[in-house]
Amino acid sequence: VIILGFDGVEPKIVDTMMEAGELPNLKKLSEEGSYQRLGSSNPPQSPSAWSSFTTCKQPGNHGIYDFLLRTPSNYRPGVGFGGPTKPVLAADGSLSKPPVFDSIRKGQSFWKAANDQGIRCAILSVPFAYPAEDLTDSHQLCGLGVPDVRGTTSTFFHMSDAFTAEEKAKVGLSGGRRLPLEFENDTAKVSIPGPLDVSKQTRAYVEVPIDIAADRNAKTVTVTLPDQAHTLKEGEWSKWLEWTFEVTPQYSVRGISRIHVLEAGEQVRMYMTCVQFHPADAYIPFTTPADYGAELQERYGLFKTIGWIFDTHALRQGVLTDDVFLADVEQTMAWREQLTLDELDRDNTDLIVSAWTGTDRVSHTFWHHRDPLHPIYDEEAAKKYGRAVENTYLHMDRIVGKVMAKLKPNDLLMIMSDHGFHSFRTAFSLNTWLVRNGYASIKGQTDPATAATTDQQVYLTGFDWAKTKAYSIGFGSLFLNLQGREGKGIVASSDSAALVAELREKLLAVAHPETGEKVFTEVYTGAEIYQGVASASAPDLQLGFAEGFQMAKKSASGSVPVEVFEPVTDHWSGDHAGSDPVTTPGIFFSNQSMSNTTPNLTDLGVTALDYLNREVPADFEGVSLF
Ligand SMILES: [Zn+2]
Repeated sequence: VIILGFDGVEPKIVDTMMEAGELPNLKKLSEEGSYQRLGSSNPPQSPSAWSSFTTCKQPGNHGIYDFLLRTPSNYRPGVGFGGPTKPVLAADGSLSKPPVFDSIRKGQSFWKAANDQGIRCAILSVPFAYPAEDLTDSHQLCGLGVPDVRGTTSTFFHMSDAFTAEEKAKVGLSGGRRLPLEFENDTAKVSIPGPLDVSKQTRAYVEVPIDIAADRNAKTVTVTLPDQAHTLKEGEWSKWLEWTFEVTPQYSVRGISRIHVLEAGEQVRMYMTCVQFHPADAYIPFTTPADYGAELQERYGLFKTIGWIFDTHALRQGVLTDDVFLADVEQTMAWREQLTLDELDRDNTDLIVSAWTGTDRVSHTFWHHRDPLHPIYDEEAAKKYGRAVENTYLHMDRIVGKVMAKLKPNDLLMIMSDHGFHSFRTAFSLNTWLVRNGYASIKGQTDPATAATTDQQVYLTGFDWAKTKAYSIGFGSLFLNLQGREGKGIVASSDSAALVAELREKLLAVAHPETGEKVFTEVYTGAEIYQGVASASAPDLQLGFAEGFQMAKKSASGSVPVEVFEPVTDHWSGDHAGSDPVTTPGIFFSNQSMSNTTPNLTDLGVTALDYLNREVPADFEGVSLF
């Protein structure tokens, strides 16, 4: 059984491209096997959806509802799927307890269920399947979810000698950091911050100093690390740099990164990727067996280990250009293609699951080029980038074709995406709407018509809980401020059902003030759709945004911006995170015809187990598609 997963592929685009003869391999599967819409999870966002795929369960049973979660007792936000723990050092500075990644997902993966019944697996870069599992005669390379050595989703570095005073004063960027370069005779020293320095009481990062020498006439930069030097031309990528961050003399953390020289003339500007785990010596294990990373390094050389594999942060903030970003997507997709084909050739597995995320990331960041109604649509730019999304689909089809060529007569091939995609033209702030409609209050502010949080009042810290009945954090979740559940809850549980119904009705009526478009196609009642062992942490209402709308970023992070509606001016112009799953299915193709015509993400693992003649665990919710 071979399952190829592509994050965020929109079926309508696939249909159009197949009709135009552009996806010959998928077209062949649709004619000779199966092609359906694939039902996604609610919400149809990657942490929830891939967890439903992996565990064959809906969110009510696996417990992953959003990128963000909150702890009701103190309203503190957290990462919605888990996070790394810090290492613990012994008194002599040696490592006494290594860091681990704690996933909050409930339920086992279908490949673990298969492996327990003797099935040999290769699980390659499946999103949100981290940490690596204990599998026999199998290998797993974890993908999305693997952090960088700082413990973040990814933190890039922007080095420059041309930052303004204002930029120097604010070195922290979304998903990155500025490192100002102070040149003297065209040489500068800068320290690269690595992992948290757990040997210190205060919050500090272990640093490695490097030297940077610019030759502005030759337009080159030489980057000198303690044990290696790299000379790079403007526009060039470095090879992988290898870092050793010494936490104590007894404990070091190794990492890798690459540098891209953006400018090396009058100004020197460089982009550096996040410092990722070293495949041969990972800060937190991300493969099964533990030396699979070293084996892959031997096979292919050093490779990206970060889960958030495409640096959308740097692209959105203009540090990486569109062309450099797209070239990286192409190369990274090709790397994973090679890995998948090689694993097929090795012919020592019964179940291969391999996933790509380039389809999703390019859709998020280049969607405006294919939507003339988007606020930042530009006709000239669209001529160049209008098919950026389609290009990743062409690549997907080539991968499918190469895998099809290697299939044996009884192999079952399934191609899936976890959800579809929509344009994101208008941001809607649920928290602002709640304040304007009298359901929430902000500390020290009395006028609900103008109340808004300050820049410091992020992550729900601005709310006046004594006067707040409902609040929002995440991309589509609404929570009541419930007595007995929330730390300062004011809504009695006897009133909660009526309040949920009232909010739902009002939200369903919300329309864009200028266009009159309805913002939601559906608003789901949590108690109805989230039933299961993980329902206690579920939202009370889950929004189902209509095409064109998504949650405003500030509202998603628990702030209250001034405006309820704002046009999207960010390159993050396509989205699906808070969309209605009914309008956001993914794709499902197979080389075999299947009788079930309404497949869901939860069904694929069950179908694989069925095909392999293995027992399906009783708590799996999916059904076999045969
Ligand atoms: Zn996405």
